[in-house]
Amino acid sequence: MIDSPRLPGHDWPDLEPGWVWLCGAGPGDPGLLTLHAVRALQMADVIVYDALCNTDILELARPGTERIYAGKRGGKPSAVQRDISLRLVELARAGKRVLRLKGGDPFVFGRGGEEAQTLVQHGIPIRIVPGITAGIGGLAYAGIPVTHRDVNQTVAFVTGHDQTGAAPNAVNWSALAQAAQVLVIYMGMKHIEKIAGELIAGGRDPADPVGVVTDASLPGQRVLETTLGRVATDVAAAGLAPPAVICVGRAVLMRQALDWQALAAGATPRSTDPLERGRPAEAS
Ligand code: SAH
Repeated sequence: MIDSPRLPGHDWPDLEPGWVWLCGAGPGDPGLLTLHAVRALQMADVIVYDALCNTDILELARPGTERIYAGKRGGKPSAVQRDISLRLVELARAGKRVLRLKGGDPFVFGRGGEEAQTLVQHGIPIRIVPGITAGIGGLAYAGIPVTHRDVNQTVAFVTGHDQTGAAPNAVNWSALAQAAQVLVIYMGMKHIEKIAGELIAGGRDPADPVGVVTDASLPGQRVLETTLGRVATDVAAAGLAPPAVICVGRAVLMRQALDWQALAAGATPRSTDPLERGRPAEAS
């Protein structure tokens, strides 16, 4: 057991038998787990984890903790999701301490809301432990700030495919093209050509910078800097594969200054003023 840090006035909650905690595992780097998630790993009798959870994280569990893989990739029938939710109900009813570990944040494009709802409908007590979502933390690991005062006052998080794997019809790409200065697209690799095309058709500049970050925060992290007009071709040429977060907007330019992993490895910044403001970063 790792001793959790203590703070006066804060008694960390315990994962009790019959409860389910839905915890975010973050984008991959185990250091991005929350204290609640680490403690849950150590208290759980059973851990039900997703395809996108870094399985190294499971090493933090007690030896002998039951592990159940509940991976679904690229959109499968919703019956599978129902099975996962009902499995959680069953485990809780059996009196287990259940940790449902989901990649990133459980309530961001991860169907955690549905699982939580099913648990509540069955009278199972739950706790939600947010995690660092790939569309924020993953970009940060690539040196891309999801907001920057000189770039955006809005950011939109969008999913690039729906439950069936099709490009989501519910997303009005041409409206989005105009609505948010920065777009962060999850699950966008399969339909990147169509998405980029629709954004351009909706009036977005083909020269708009795009960053594609695969395996964010993991040792195999790769980052492609390109433009909206070229992204589909460049992704294919680079052989990039999911999982990836795709960031559209001038925030991507900041990577020229903020690629902190490259800086830590001894590189010099490509630019210290990528937005060409010609003034100190804090000056208004
Ligand atoms: N709940 C998760 C998102 C689940 S949807 C979260 O909050 O991050 C799955 C999508 O998340 C992937 O297709 C990809 O777009 C993104 N994603 C998750 N982990 C990632 C990682 N390590 N690197 C890049 N993208 C990631």
